[in-house]
Amino acid sequence: MGSGQLHVFFFPMMAQGHMIPTLDMAKLFAAAGVKSTIITTPLNAHHFTKSLQRVTQLGLDMGILTVDFPAVAAGLPEGCENADQIRSDDMLPNFFRAINMLRDPLERLLDEFRPNCLVADMFFPWATEAAAKFGIPRLVFHGMSLFALCAMENVRLHKPQRQVSSDEEPFLVPNLPHQIKLTKMQLSDSDRQVVETDFSKMKKRIGESELTSYGVIVNSFYELEPDYANHYRDVLGRRAWHVGPVSLCNRGIEDKAQRGKIASIDEHECLKWLDSKKPNSVIYVCFGSMADFAASQLFEIAMGLEASGQQFIWVVRRPKNEEEEERESWLPEGFEERMRERGLIIRGWAPQVLILDHEAIGGFVTHCGWNSTLEGLSSGVPMVTWPVFAEQFYNEKLVTEVLRVGVSVGAREWKRTGSGGLRRDEVAAAVQRIVVGEEAEEMRRRARALKDKAKKAVEEGGSSYSDLNRLIQELSSYHA
Ligand code: UDP
Repeated sequence: MGSGQLHVFFFPMMAQGHMIPTLDMAKLFAAAGVKSTIITTPLNAHHFTKSLQRVTQLGLDMGILTVDFPAVAAGLPEGCENADQIRSDDMLPNFFRAINMLRDPLERLLDEFRPNCLVADMFFPWATEAAAKFGIPRLVFHGMSLFALCAMENVRLHKPQRQVSSDEEPFLVPNLPHQIKLTKMQLSDSDRQVVETDFSKMKKRIGESELTSYGVIVNSFYELEPDYANHYRDVLGRRAWHVGPVSLCNRGIEDKAQRGKIASIDEHECLKWLDSKKPNSVIYVCFGSMADFAASQLFEIAMGLEASGQQFIWVVRRPKNEEEEERESWLPEGFEERMRERGLIIRGWAPQVLILDHEAIGGFVTHCGWNSTLEGLSSGVPMVTWPVFAEQFYNEKLVTEVLRVGVSVGAREWKRTGSGGLRRDEVAAAVQRIVVGEEAEEMRRRARALKDKAKKAVEEGGSSYSDLNRLIQELSSYHA
């Protein structure tokens, strides 16, 4: 490219766990002088606008462009433009069909605006070719840990799950720097069966497009998972840049509170509640934007939190009165009355990073989505790991066995919707393990050390700061 300002397109998958870190990443590029443009669909645009207003007022060069989402043409209900609206597995293929129809409109934008680089989500495998058509590099963003990327690639290459005779028998993930064991039950449906499904075909295309892309941009930092950063580059041969934790770019209250959807609680009310609590005395419980528990499981969580004796903030995705006959059936009789002093239930969306950063928070019960996991690590709190689906069972291993800053609640089965099966005593015991005793203290010490390392990584001269700047320099001198 010439001597002008570098212009990068960021095209995240339409899911909060992808849009939120992509926006943070775009802000980091913009803060380094790059013109950053977010590409999304009309009904997802409002998730970005407040943040964009704030950063453009600060003088950063950021904008947004939209491509129409062909929901109806792909067999989805009108207005369904985000993965968190997919509440049953049958709708998933249609959602992916719609996504695959975004290539042409994206190419039209590339043609019109001629950016210098395209950072596109893994779920758009055709983006590498689309970018090549305009002579620009495509970077892949998976939104996963380096640990999960390495483990999944080794499972894909060696299929160790074929060696076990039952779904419950552990197998070793080969070639990793640590001895990591999983069961078939903890793998996705397509990995468990080792048969070709539409999803496994798509994963294959994702893998192929990654190899022909310019490289991979990762929301992690070197000091967190050095063995896996090295494995990914040196053993698996990927070109990768780690630029995280990207959530740390949010420093003000509004930046921390207004990520993703509009919070269902006023941020000041939330802070007031937390301010009234002692340091390290509240457990934050949240399962991200997609995990869908059965009502019976929510009931057991409530009883487990009560039995744990701990104070808590519990985020429940299920809105009140969603289904008439299920009205609050997940909530034990008189629970909120009894918990008035001890617990806060947020129905809907919580200002997660604002909460996690508060000194009153002493632990995090998480579904191990990578953003939540990294946000928890960046806040220096021990975790109870409760993976549900996606690559969350891998992240659990990183937290509990490699970093040793958390304990597993004992989730056994990968399941996208209607998950459940854990009892109240298992919930209570896991929560107590991260709060009480020597083991909890050790986890807390290790977690605090990681928090410090995370902060250093994104500061001037830190590993992520330097990797980002190296990448920007490389992109500035790119010639097709
Ligand atoms: N999040 C939030 N409030 C909520 C739930 C989630 O701010 O009530 C944010 C969370 O901070 C994280 C993202 O949404 O940045 C969820 O991403 P993650 O990878 O943890 O899980 P996913 O939603 O993709 O399963």
